[in-house]
Amino acid sequence: MPEIRILTDRVANQIAAGEVVERPVAVVKELIENSIDAGASKIEVEFRNGGKSYLRVEDDGSGMNPDQALLCLERHATSKIRKASDLNDVQTFGFRGEALPSISSVSRFTLRTRSKGNEEGNEIFINGGKMIHVKECGMPYGTRIEVSHLFNSVPGRRKFLKTEVTEASHIIHLSKLYALAHPSITFSLLEGGRTLFRSPACEGFAERVRETLGKGLAECLAPIEASEGGLALRGLIGKPGESRPTRKEMIFFVNRRPIESKTLAHAVLEAYHTYAPKGRFPPAILFLGIDPALVDVNVHPAKREIRFREERKVRQFLLESIVARNRQLADRPDLHESAPEMEVDGLSGMLVPKMDPQALRLHQTQEGVNEAGTGYQGEPERELALGVVPDSSSDDKTAPPLAGEGLIEAQEKRRSLRVGRRDDPNADWRLLDRTHGDMAVLSSAQGIVAFHCRAAYERIRYEQLEDCFGNDEKASTQSLLLAESLEFDGQEAALIEKGRADLEKVGFSLEEFGRNFYRMKGCPTWIDPREAVAFLRDFVEVARESGGEMNTEAFAKEALIRQATQNHGGREDFSEDEIVRIGNQLLKCRNPYTCPRGRPIYFETPRRDFESRFRRKL
Ligand code: ADP
Ligand code: MG
Repeated sequence: MPEIRILTDRVANQIAAGEVVERPVAVVKELIENSIDAGASKIEVEFRNGGKSYLRVEDDGSGMNPDQALLCLERHATSKIRKASDLNDVQTFGFRGEALPSISSVSRFTLRTRSKGNEEGNEIFINGGKMIHVKECGMPYGTRIEVSHLFNSVPGRRKFLKTEVTEASHIIHLSKLYALAHPSITFSLLEGGRTLFRSPACEGFAERVRETLGKGLAECLAPIEASEGGLALRGLIGKPGESRPTRKEMIFFVNRRPIESKTLAHAVLEAYHTYAPKGRFPPAILFLGIDPALVDVNVHPAKREIRFREERKVRQFLLESIVARNRQLADRPDLHESAPEMEVDGLSGMLVPKMDPQALRLHQTQEGVNEAGTGYQGEPERELALGVVPDSSSDDKTAPPLAGEGLIEAQEKRRSLRVGRRDDPNADWRLLDRTHGDMAVLSSAQGIVAFHCRAAYERIRYEQLEDCFGNDEKASTQSLLLAESLEFDGQEAALIEKGRADLEKVGFSLEEFGRNFYRMKGCPTWIDPREAVAFLRDFVEVARESGGEMNTEAFAKEALIRQATQNHGGREDFSEDEIVRIGNQLLKCRNPYTCPRGRPIYFETPRRDFESRFRRKL
């Protein structure tokens, strides 16, 4: 049998390096975290060739005295915890004492550091884990670490690295994340001497976002802040209608640590369900504050994925906070006063929500049936005069304007736009023609609008249904002429019992009339009575599958979408008058950008695009 031996430190470090610093960006992460832990107010990061040939992280933090400098390169040497119980209360990024020995075991590693009270700095040079020299050096306070020829001594690992461009993009992204989380630290990032970004200590987070992620993105975002039951959320979220083609701008921090979390990502996607088109992602930069004891950070030392002890609570909190904020941002003050009414659709004989009377009035006004100055004309002023988006849950008209100016103005501008026929001189959007199927083309001051009539119609109905649904006082129930009988098995009946209060809240009226037998005497106005039984059966089915967990609201939402998108009141075709009316109603919607299934409703091709294609001014 071969002899059993203890590995030398050098080999142990090289093995650990494979875990802790598997690629250049992981080295950058460890070094930046050390600098932040050392209380730096300035951090500079430089890299070359995607970090493979050269990396440098330099700070003006506490620095180390000569003894500490030597010790920090030993395995499990850390100044951040002493005993196991400290682990429950770690406030720093590091605590394993593994990073520096690991990195220095697989690279050419130069540490230069000077702490307050030391005349000189110290330089330590290590090559592939072997100490080459230690000497004094002149330098300002702080620490500068250079790493070159990363993984040269471990060719197996070097082979796994992606292209320089990919590695570089990871380093850039990561550096920005830390910059975002620490606006008070001056951050610079250089690639081979060229500055990629430099952000002096910022006033606040929003300013940092502008400096690191760009003005374009910053303008698409609105601030959010919420707290509840030991959870605190703050940050910026995409204004309704804003979306991105990738998840790159869905950025999460937990206790200021950039992390990845399926829980948080799903909550955001769900919150934007009807606000962002399918296959696109809402931008969101969110900081979650939570008791560290409720987070499992170190699922893997190099991975950023984290787990929460109370997944559901966190998810729910995030979802509700963002939904509430989105509603606030996209509120339609004008339509809230008038409770939506239902009417019998002439064509199908079905109960459908009445079209927005204000938009109808506008339409009539345009057609010459003026209602003696009552109604629409006065409305835009009133909206403008309010100047704030009223919080629908309170009557506090003195509430300060919400931050994120520009948004409200844009919203008001949108709502005051008028759609008209081609020859209407007062219209902002003029209908030119219905060109292909459900597509219409309109001209606007800024360009040409392609408009999907059916998608718009579905959105309007969806929001009207949603209004009925959210209308508590008027328990919007329609009585059924003939009560429907329903028979369930024991388990199903128990689920119905459990969800009954909720079902009644959304408009069902159920009566038990025997063991496991129910009579449905009324159903919500937002559902076609013929579908009400199927709805209840689906409801029970879903509740059973999810082990008795019921989310009546979410379930009803899905039914609303179905209701809004199926049978368009028998409409096969949209006349020009209807398109004009739909257009006007759409612009008043909370979210006029996407249909309830998340597909776009209209897009505007700006005039400058035409100009660049024609290569001349129009
Ligand atoms: P950890 O961060 O887990 O403690 P590291 O190997 O990353 O382990 O660092 C070891 C020790 O070296 C740290 O605990 C800290 O005392 C010291 N150190 C590392 N980087 C710096 C720095 N930039 N400034 C001051 N001290 C540092
Ligand atoms: Mg560390």
